[in-house]
Amino acid sequence: MRDPILEMTGITKVFSTEEMDTHALRGVDLAIYPGDFVSICGPSGCGKSTLLSLLGLLDTPSSGRYAIDNIDVSKLTPAAAATVRNEKIGFIFQSFNLIDELSVFDNIALPLRYRRVKLSNAEAREKVMQCLHKMGMAHRVSHRPNQLSGGQQQRVAIARALVSEPVLLLVDEPTGNLDSRNGDAVMDILRELNNHGTTICMVTHDPRYADMASRKLHLLDGKMLDADADAPTSYQTQPGGTISV
Ligand code: ADP
Ligand code: MG
Repeated sequence: MRDPILEMTGITKVFSTEEMDTHALRGVDLAIYPGDFVSICGPSGCGKSTLLSLLGLLDTPSSGRYAIDNIDVSKLTPAAAATVRNEKIGFIFQSFNLIDELSVFDNIALPLRYRRVKLSNAEAREKVMQCLHKMGMAHRVSHRPNQLSGGQQQRVAIARALVSEPVLLLVDEPTGNLDSRNGDAVMDILRELNNHGTTICMVTHDPRYADMASRKLHLLDGKMLDADADAPTSYQTQPGGTISV
C-alpha cells in the first residue's frame, strides 16, 4: 500500500489576541496520497487558508501531529521548515503573489535560488523555460507581471510553483481573482497537471471547482464535515488516525 505524502492528525489552530481566541481549526485529520487531487471546500472563514498555511509549513499548529513523508514536521524550526517547504511544496494563491519589480523569468527562477542544491545558470534557464512553455507563456518571458492579464499572471504563478518540481501543489482559491473563462482555463491546467502525476490540494469556496477534484472534502467551522467518501477504501483514515487496508 502507498504511504501518504502528508498526514495530519488532530490538528488545531488557535489565534489568540488580548480580546479573544479564534479557534480556526478544531481537530483536523487529513491524509494526502501520491497522485491525489483533493479539494477542500467550505464557506468564507471556515479555516481553509489556515489549513493550507499549516500544510505548507507557513505556520505551525497549536496542537496535533503533522508528518510529511512520515517525518514529523509540526515542530520544525523556521529555518528547517523553510528547507522542507522549498524542496517539497509549490504554492498557488488567489492573488498570484508575483513580484512586480521582477520579470516573468526572474519570478519563476526565484524558488530555484532558495534551493540548497544550486543549479547552473544554464540548467536554471532550461527549467524556467520548460515551465513557461508548458503554461503557454514563453512569449512573455521579459514582461513584468503588471503588464499581463490576470489569467496570464496566474499561469506565471503556476509556472513558478512547478519550477522546483514539488511533490505537492497547494492551491488557495486559484480562480478567485479571475473571470469564469480564465478560471476554467486555470482549472483545466490543474487537472492536466494532476493527470500527469502532480499531487494537488486545493481549497475553494466554489463548489463547482471543488467538484473537479478526485477527492472532495468539506470544512465547516474548523472541522472536516464528513468522512471522505471518495477516498479509495484501501486507504480510508479511521477515527484514531490509523490506516485501514
Ligand atoms: P477561509 O480561508 O476559510 O476564509 P481562514 O483560514 O482565513 O478562513 O480563517 C479562519 C478563521 O480564523 C477566521 O475566523 C479568521 O478571522 C481567523 N483568522 C485567520 N487568520 C488569523 C490571524 N492571523 N489572526 C487572528 N484570526 C485569524
Ligand atoms: Mg481563505
